Amino acid sequence: MAKQFECKSAGMDCPFMLRTESDDELVSFSQQHAKKTHKKDVSRQDILKLAKSV
Ligand SMILES: [Zn+2]
Repeated sequence: MAKQFECKSAGMDCPFMLRTESDDELVSFSQQHAKKTHKKDVSRQDILKLAKSV
C-alpha cells in the first residue's frame, strides 16, 4: 500500500503532494520540501502521522 503526504494535511496552503510506496522516501522528500519551502523541520513521526494510506 502506498502512502500519500499532502502539505494541506499539515495545515499549509501549499499544493505539494507526494505519493510513494516507501516510508523512507516519503519522510525524506517531505522533510526536504518542508525545510526548503516552509523553513520548517518536521519529524519523521509527524510526517507518518499526517500521511494517508492510499
Ligand atoms: Zn508545502
